[in-house]
Amino acid sequence: MARREFSRNQKEEIIERARNAEGKVACERCGLILKKGTWEIDHIIPEALRPEVDKKAKITIAEGQLLGKDCCHRGEEGKTNKDVSQIAKAKRQYNGANGLKRPKQPIKSPGFPKAEKASKRSSEQPLPPRALYKPAEETSR
Ligand SMILES: [Zn+2]
Repeated sequence: MARREFSRNQKEEIIERARNAEGKVACERCGLILKKGTWEIDHIIPEALRPEVDKKAKITIAEGQLLGKDCCHRGEEGKTNKDVSQIAKAKRQYNGANGLKRPKQPIKSPGFPKAEKASKRSSEQPLPPRALYKPAEETSR
């Protein structure tokens, strides 16, 4: 099932929730005051890690949080990066548990060229074609 997105109204509610006492939007994780356009709404539990049954329910604002792009969401130590590696791990575990892992493949290369002698041997004397039927003399009674 597809990733559930917050509606425009839900985003607004999350933004309002993230406002501090002075009415400024602050990162819901670290509290950094954020300028317009420097935050994103994050799925606290990544949608890719949600069981399908969960996703049948409508998404609520409790499942989202407002994070600063630079402080908590993106960047090396950001949530997105950690989510991505967690999602990859979950996929590997799923594949392993369900036998979906692709078996190891031999490296495809043209291989070694045939030695001169060997190629001569195989091309010099082709086998005579097999007789499709027995000659008449042998089968006559
Ligand atoms: Zn932050």
